[in-house]
Amino acid sequence: MTSRFEPVNGTVRPLRLAGESWSGDSSHTFEVMSPFDGSQVGIVPSCSPGDVDRAVQSAREGLRRGLVQHERVAVLERAARALEDHREEFARIIARESAKPIRTARVEVERAVSTLGFSAAEARRLTGETIPLEAAPSGIGKIGFTMRVPIGVVGAIAPFNFPLNLVVHKVGPAIAAGCPVVLKPASQTPFSSIALSELLIDDCGLPADFLHVVTGSGGTVGNAIVDHPDVALVTFTGSPDVGWGIRARAPRKRVGLELGNNAPVIIEPSGDWRTAATKIRLAGFSHAGQSCISTQRIFVHTSIADEFIDTLVEQVNSLAVGDPMDEATEVSSLISAAETDRVVAWIDEARSAGARVVCGGVVGDQGVLAPTVLVDVDPSMKVCSQELFGPVVAVARYDDVDEALRLANDSAFGLQAAIFTADLSTALTAVRTLDFGGVLVNEVPTWRADHQPYGGVRDSGNTREGPAYTIREMTELKMVVIGD
Ligand code: NAP
Repeated sequence: MTSRFEPVNGTVRPLRLAGESWSGDSSHTFEVMSPFDGSQVGIVPSCSPGDVDRAVQSAREGLRRGLVQHERVAVLERAARALEDHREEFARIIARESAKPIRTARVEVERAVSTLGFSAAEARRLTGETIPLEAAPSGIGKIGFTMRVPIGVVGAIAPFNFPLNLVVHKVGPAIAAGCPVVLKPASQTPFSSIALSELLIDDCGLPADFLHVVTGSGGTVGNAIVDHPDVALVTFTGSPDVGWGIRARAPRKRVGLELGNNAPVIIEPSGDWRTAATKIRLAGFSHAGQSCISTQRIFVHTSIADEFIDTLVEQVNSLAVGDPMDEATEVSSLISAAETDRVVAWIDEARSAGARVVCGGVVGDQGVLAPTVLVDVDPSMKVCSQELFGPVVAVARYDDVDEALRLANDSAFGLQAAIFTADLSTALTAVRTLDFGGVLVNEVPTWRADHQPYGGVRDSGNTREGPAYTIREMTELKMVVIGD
C-alpha cells in the first residue's frame, strides 16, 4: 500500500507553498522517471520565480515571528522519532526516485534520523559567550556578551545523490538556528524533500512558513533563490561548476558550498590491504559511485599490487547488480542514461590510453553499468583527474610513499583522502601532507560521521557541514554591551 508520503504515478504531488497546498498549472509540471526502468515515479509542479518570491515572503513572516529555542528542539526531536517511524516509506521514496538500492536507501534514512538528532542537540546548546570588556581600560564598568541570532531566510539547493540526508543537513541546522528555509531539491529527486516537509509540518509542529519546497529547474528556481534579495544565505551541495557559479552570482550573500571530489586512498605494504579491498567493495560502488567521497583513485605499493588487485576484483565481482527495489541489489543504475554514457566514454578513453579493465566496463542487460576496476591508470586520464561519479575505481602502482602522497594531492579537489598503513610515522606524515578537508588512517576516504566537520578545500568547497558547524554559518553573532 502506498503511504501518504509516497508519490503516485500519474498524479501531481502538491507542494505546500506559503502555507497553502499548491499543484501549479497543469501545463507547468514535470514528470520524474525512474533512472532504472524509465517508469514514471510521479509528477511535480514546475515552479516559477514568482513562486520562489511567495515562498521567501512567507519565510520572512516566519522569521519575523521567530521560533523560540525550546520549540526548535521539540520539532527536531519529534522529527527524528517520526522519521524513524516512517523509515521504510522514506527508503522506498529514495530508491524509486534515485535508483539507490533499497538496502542503501535504508541506511540513508537512518543517517537522516541521526542528523535530526544532532540538530536538536545543537538547538539546545546554541549560545553566545561572555566578552570580558573590562580587559581593556575603555571597558571598565561594562558588561558584554554575544548572542547567536538567525541569519535570515536560508535558500537551500540540494543534489540528487543523498536526496534525504543532505537535505536534512541543511534543514535540520536551519531549524535549530531559527531560520526559515526555501528548499530546491534536485529535479530528479523532489519527493524525499516534499515528504520531509510534510512530516515536519504536519506531524512535528514546524510552522508552515518555516519550510517551503519549490520544485523546478536549477536555471529557473535555483537562480531565483540565489538572486532573491531577501535570502540571506545560500547553502548549496552539488557540482563545482554550478556551485562556484552561485558564489560568483551572489557576492554579498553568505554562500556555503559542498562540491565534488575524486577521493584517493593509498595502500601501503604495512597496511591491512585485505581489509582495504573489502571496504572498497562498497566504498567505491555504493550508490553506483555517486557519492562525493566515493573511493576513486587507489594508489597501491608495487610490492603488494598484484595480490591487492586480485582481492579487490574478487570483492567487486561479488557485488549484486540490478533493480534498486530488489532486496539483494547493491549496485543499480546511474542517475540517467546520459551519465552512464559519459562514464562508459571515460572508461573507453582510459582503455585507449593504456589502462586495463580487469572487471566490468560493460553495460549489462538491465542497462546497469557493471562495477569496474581499471588498473595501470595514468593521472592525466579523466578517470583520475576528474570526478568520476560512477561505479569505477582507478588503480595505480607506486614505489615510494612520498610519490603516492604527491599523486594523491595532485587534484583540483580536496574533500577526503585516506591511507592504510601500520606505521605511525607514515600515518602522521600522511596526515600532515595530504591537503584535504579530512584525512582518514586505516579507513576508506568514503567514511564519514554526520556530526563531524565535513567539507573540502580547493575546488571541493568553502564550508563545513555537520549540524554543529552549519548552525554557526546560519547564525550571526550579535554583540551586546551594557554600560554602567
Ligand atoms: P548539480 O547538477 O550541480 O545539481 C545540484 C543542484 O543544483 C540541483 O538541485 C540542481 O537543480 C541545481 N542547479 C543546477 N543548475 C543550477 C543553477 N544554475 N543555479 C542554481 N541551482 C542549480 O549536482 P548533482 O548532479 O545533483 O550532484 C552531484 C554533484 O554533487 C557531484 O559533483 C558531487 O560530488 C556533489 N556532491 C557534493 C557533496 C559534498 O558534500 N561535498 C555531497 C553530495 C554531492 P536541477 O536538478 O534542477 O538541475
